[in-house]
Amino acid sequence: MSAGTESGTGAGRRPVHDGLFGEDGSGSPFLLGGRCDACDRVQFPMAPTCPACGADTITEVRLSDHGTLWGWTAVTAPPPGALGDVPFGFGVVELPEGLRVITRLTESDPTRLSFGLPMQLVVIDLGPDPDPDSAVRGEIITTYAFAPVVAT
Ligand SMILES: [Zn+2]
Repeated sequence: MSAGTESGTGAGRRPVHDGLFGEDGSGSPFLLGGRCDACDRVQFPMAPTCPACGADTITEVRLSDHGTLWGWTAVTAPPPGALGDVPFGFGVVELPEGLRVITRLTESDPTRLSFGLPMQLVVIDLGPDPDPDSAVRGEIITTYAFAPVVAT
């Protein structure tokens, strides 16, 4: 829409999965979850029914873009079909909503992570799309991750 912005070289970026996260107009990332209309339980990723009460009235909501580290590990061997470099961090971040999100971590050294560490949502580039059709267009696959908040 906005001509003249420096948002790449014309190559697109697209999420590794649709409907998990987005970026708003100012480039701030957010996770897309669902809130149960019946019991207010929040879930991620959004599912058609509530795991707590079984209701099927789920409203899409933007979740908090920060949380605290709850568990973590380092992935040192690439899973089949995985994009991006190894090692990478992988773990669980608890959001203020009380929801625990399984997520990539930008920090892959477990010794630099600790329980309760403040974490911030980011969107990272995994690399070129391996799909030959998309590769021709030069699309970059993106995914969400959480980065440690460095105290200043
Ligand atoms: Zn419910």
